[in-house]
Amino acid sequence: MTEEKQVRFGPAGIPAQCKGTGTLDGVKCCAELGLTAMEMEFVRGVRMKEPQATAIGIEAKKLDISLSSHAPYYINLCSTDEVKAANSRRHIYEAAKATFHAGGRITVFHSGYYQDFTKEEAYKIAKKNLLETEEKLKQENIKCVLGAETVGKKSQFGGLLEVIKLAQEIETVQPVIDFSHLVARADFPLKTEADFKKLFDLLEKELGDYVKHFHGHFQEVNYSDKGELNHLKLGTKDEPPYKPFMKMLADNGYSGTIISESPIIEEDAIKMKQEYEKQLKNKK
Ligand SMILES: [Zn+2]
Repeated sequence: MTEEKQVRFGPAGIPAQCKGTGTLDGVKCCAELGLTAMEMEFVRGVRMKEPQATAIGIEAKKLDISLSSHAPYYINLCSTDEVKAANSRRHIYEAAKATFHAGGRITVFHSGYYQDFTKEEAYKIAKKNLLETEEKLKQENIKCVLGAETVGKKSQFGGLLEVIKLAQEIETVQPVIDFSHLVARADFPLKTEADFKKLFDLLEKELGDYVKHFHGHFQEVNYSDKGELNHLKLGTKDEPPYKPFMKMLADNGYSGTIISESPIIEEDAIKMKQEYEKQLKNKK
């Protein structure tokens, strides 16, 4: 993999202002807006077939849009019900396959729910299901990183330390840092530049060069004591604040991709990109 030297920005899905409604339209629209990434939303099921994925991949490469995807929401890897577990593995497998054919690097998923399991039990079951998924992808020579997202609700399996551990123990898994979820779940405080630096120091200590190709979601969040309620646009209440984060990224030379899941997906992606570029210039 060629190492990126900077941070890419893009929307979660096809930009709202895009005239077309297909993924290919979305890729072109992102390029016109000056964005450099796009996450394909397979959240209600993977319907993209190989020829379509290949065509999208060719265009994305030409326009220098880095693609990723979000796997279906209907996933619970912490299930001991074999039908539910098999369906969860299939959703991740299908998302990874379409992403691979489109030349994308990573598919993001929410791991599941603790239900009545202890945290340790939930971890073991999720790990077993991920190893099985990895095995199937390897057999078919499908190369796609499985991105375990840091989740937003306290009832969900997938806190920061849990996804770091999954990434350490499973070759194909890497964390997807949803910064707003870390705040909503009280997994990690993110208020100042120093807080963001502490988080990246932790990631580097535990996962080495992950900080040179990290994948994350950034937007603001509304939450209760149970965790995430809904996503908010940047500048609503600065939780978490994007400006110190952009400065920290620029000052330390980290590389990766930031996807905006704000209610105004592409506008906030552009806002972050502009702030990041301003901070890069200030540095010089
Ligand atoms: Zn997600």
